[in-house]
Amino acid sequence: MSRNNALEQVETYFQGGEFFTDLAALVAFETESQNPDQAPILGQYLTDAMVPRLEALGFECVLHKNPDAGGGPILTGARIEDPSLPTILTYGHGDVVLAQTEQWREGLRPFELMEQGDRLYGRGTADNKVQHLINLAALESVLAVRGRLGFNVKIVIEMSEEIGSPGLAEFMKANKDRLKSDVLIASDGPRLQPDRATMFMGARGGISFDLTLDLREGAHHSGNWGGLLADPAIILSHAIASICDARGQIQIPAWRPTSLTDDIRAAISELPVNDGNDPKVDDDWGEENLTPNERVYGWNSFAILAMTSGVPEAPVNAIAAKACATCQLRYVVGTKPEDILPALRRHLDQHGFQQVQIEQHERAFFPATRLDPANPWVKYVEDSLTRTSGQKPHILPNLAGSLPNDCFADILGLPTVWVPHSYLGCSQHAPNEHVLKAVCQDSLRLMAGLFWDIGTGAP
Ligand SMILES: [Zn+2]
Repeated sequence: MSRNNALEQVETYFQGGEFFTDLAALVAFETESQNPDQAPILGQYLTDAMVPRLEALGFECVLHKNPDAGGGPILTGARIEDPSLPTILTYGHGDVVLAQTEQWREGLRPFELMEQGDRLYGRGTADNKVQHLINLAALESVLAVRGRLGFNVKIVIEMSEEIGSPGLAEFMKANKDRLKSDVLIASDGPRLQPDRATMFMGARGGISFDLTLDLREGAHHSGNWGGLLADPAIILSHAIASICDARGQIQIPAWRPTSLTDDIRAAISELPVNDGNDPKVDDDWGEENLTPNERVYGWNSFAILAMTSGVPEAPVNAIAAKACATCQLRYVVGTKPEDILPALRRHLDQHGFQQVQIEQHERAFFPATRLDPANPWVKYVEDSLTRTSGQKPHILPNLAGSLPNDCFADILGLPTVWVPHSYLGCSQHAPNEHVLKAVCQDSLRLMAGLFWDIGTGAP
């Protein structure tokens, strides 16, 4: 029995239509974690879809109540062949964002998997149902061909990722022993290009906060008082202008990362430039001496998510009392998260903006993570993916967006390697979410090859 047999096995799984049937069954669960009415479905996804499949694969499963009352249930499973073998941890989330049913293209229904041309449409296909389905199917194929995996595997499936993974970090801290493993290999997010595998080893962090300037009680007539009363919107705009310049370059020294080393630069330089995708990248935006890919994968970015003063829908002739901007910093490792807001405070004070208040948002904080590109697991996965597909994968030091990778990297202390099975145009979090059949088929082969290889010896 050979590696090729395992690849043929997943190929048959895809070609024979079983893959479609399985994905359709997962998509049919209306697991909108943002919709409290669907709370019972979150548990059903685990008990009715995941547990039977995992048990058939030889996992022992445990369902856990989320330690945070705002979070859905969490499933863990373990399949131990021999405690002396390496243990892989994998992860998925079964919840999806709101269906947005009315906005889907004519003929498409979010919870009914629909094949059209080279695409499979359905809410949660790309994010994240196809991703954990592919990994489970690849494990099944290796097991079917070899009769054993050759390694141990553990799994965590959460049902609250789309509401910020409440309770997940706490759960991980309380279940370190249960989840003890050698590496995390999991899937979420898009490939950089559909016809080539992508690996990423961490994520940018993010922190959101309000900047508020509240000067007085109520608005005052702009004729009678204009020139006499300070305008909060103007002052807040200047405060923001002190944070970053007119092309978005960050001016706060502590917000400028020191982690863009030659290694990371070299890794980023091999990535394709976002070409042809909408919208077009603004070449004259962001840190001047960096390439666009360095700006998004290797640097921090500051954004104003929303901004108000007065009543924008119905302006009146008055000096507003208050101005507010909701801001966000996306940051890479090498930025001290605990100093992000204190550094901002110091900076605003130094520039005369002592009156501007900073208030951090609850549940909008993600730590940044990044695995050293020299970690042996990176090379190992890269070699395996290259062997299966005949081409080197794109390797991102970290995803530009965020995901709860700190739970694995920091709390469990694992090297983390993510192999995404979707693509940039998949409309995740939007109407008409879909996956590409060709990417699914390729990913099934890549993962079967990878799990086959790990069974012959880990790094
Ligand atoms: Zn998502």
